[in-house]
Amino acid sequence: MAGGTLRLICPNLKCKAVLSVPSNARGKDVACRQCGMRIKIPRPKAASAIPPTTPPAAAPPATDAAGDKPAA
Ligand SMILES: [Zn+2]
Repeated sequence: MAGGTLRLICPNLKCKAVLSVPSNARGKDVACRQCGMRIKIPRPKAASAIPPTTPPAAAPPATDAAGDKPAA
């Protein structure tokens, strides 16, 4: 499974070079070959890092039930 490469785009807006870095460089930072900017390589996200879904808010109040008119 090793031996993959990652593609990163230099965050320097004046550079935007596409860099290929070995996948084992994750968690480290590399220097852009064009501008020399340090780029942090993100680690792969853990599968267990799923954010909990927010429970739905309380149910909206029921609409006014017509039929509460006083009978003349
Ligand atoms: Zn760059």
